[in-house]
Amino acid sequence: MAKKSQSARSRPPDLTLHQSHCTICASDRLQDVEAAFLNWESQAKIAGDFKLGSRLVVYRHARACGLIERRNSSIRNALGNFIERCGKVRPSAQSFVAACVALSRLDSEGHSVDRVETRIGGLDQLFGRMTRAEMKDYAETGNLPRWWVLEHQDETGNSK
Ligand SMILES: [Zn+2]
Repeated sequence: MAKKSQSARSRPPDLTLHQSHCTICASDRLQDVEAAFLNWESQAKIAGDFKLGSRLVVYRHARACGLIERRNSSIRNALGNFIERCGKVRPSAQSFVAACVALSRLDSEGHSVDRVETRIGGLDQLFGRMTRAEMKDYAETGNLPRWWVLEHQDETGNSK
């Protein structure tokens, strides 16, 4: 008797099964729809622009075809470019950085935002103390500043 996987709900749907039902996969505008999604257009707007009926059609296609992961993996590049263009990181920029890092952490490591905040002791506190160069390094590499790592070694359990 086969055991049922506990992660069945989080697993992407079977691609062949998806393609047999998906109006986007069958569409000659497939590449345009995917480009719009990867360009961060809202799912509702894409559904409207391409007459797909519902944003759920867009969501199901994006999930089945790995577009969500592809889109979110570009966050670090966008963030690095954003910070480089800023002469000075202001509080609103810190909020932007915090949101982007939280999202990129969520996808690259599979942790929830809440867990990341708990693990590193609060993003607001961290970003409030980071220099612009440290933010840029964190955005591009995911490396926390050395002073933060040393302060939180016992809490995080990480040695570096
Ligand atoms: Zn599809």
